[in-house]
Amino acid sequence: MKIMDVQFIISAVRPDQYPEDALPEVALAGRSNVGKSSLINKLIMRKNLARTSSQPGKTQQLNYYRVNDMIYLVDFPGYGYAKVSKTQREKFGEMIETYLQEREPLKLQLLVIDIRHEPSKDDVLMYNWLKHFEIPTCIVATKADKIPRSKWDKHIKMIKTTLEADPRDSVVLFSSETGLGREQLWDVINEAIAT
Ligand code: GDP
Repeated sequence: MKIMDVQFIISAVRPDQYPEDALPEVALAGRSNVGKSSLINKLIMRKNLARTSSQPGKTQQLNYYRVNDMIYLVDFPGYGYAKVSKTQREKFGEMIETYLQEREPLKLQLLVIDIRHEPSKDDVLMYNWLKHFEIPTCIVATKADKIPRSKWDKHIKMIKTTLEADPRDSVVLFSSETGLGREQLWDVINEAIAT
C-alpha cells in the first residue's frame, strides 16, 4: 500500500464531530500500551503522527486520520488502564457503544493484542461487543518480534481460544519494529472497504 497523503483530522469527543464525507472507516481498539499508536504509525509510514499518549486512558476521544483520501483510521482510546476513574470508564463505554452501534461507515475493526500475553478481561469484553454488533473484525497480534518465531503459532492459538474467536475473523501477526504484517494488514483493510 503506497501512502500518498495522511492527515490528522480531529480528536472527536461527540458524534456530531465525526466526519460527514462517508469515507469508509477502519477503527482500532486495544489496551493502553499494547502498541496501537506504533501500529498506526507503521501502517501510514509516519514516524510520529499517531501520538503515543503520555496520560493513557485520560482522554476519551476518537482520533481520526485520513489516509490517501480513501479511508479514515479511527483510533479508540486505550482501555484497561488501572488509574481511570469510574466516570471515565463509563464515558468510554457510552462513546464506543454508540460508535459501534450506529456508525454506518465502519467497515472493519482491528483488535490489537500483545502476542506475548493472554487477552485480558477487557479484551474479551471488547471482542464480545464487536461480535454483538456484528462488526467485521481482524485480530492483530502485535509485538511479534518480542517472541521467537517458533512460538508464534502457539500464542496465536492461545489468543483465539481465550477470545473464543469467530473463525471468519482474520488474524494478522504484526511488528511495528520490523514491519512484519504491514502489507497483509493493508490487504485485509482493502478487502474490507471494497465490500
Ligand atoms: P499504545 O499505548 O497502544 O498506543 O502503545 P504504543 O504504540 O505507545 O507502544 C507502547 C510501547 O511498546 C512503546 O514503548 C513502543 O515502542 C513499544 N512497541 C509498540 N509496538 C511494538 C512492536 O511491534 N515491537 C516492539 N518490540 N515494541 C513495540
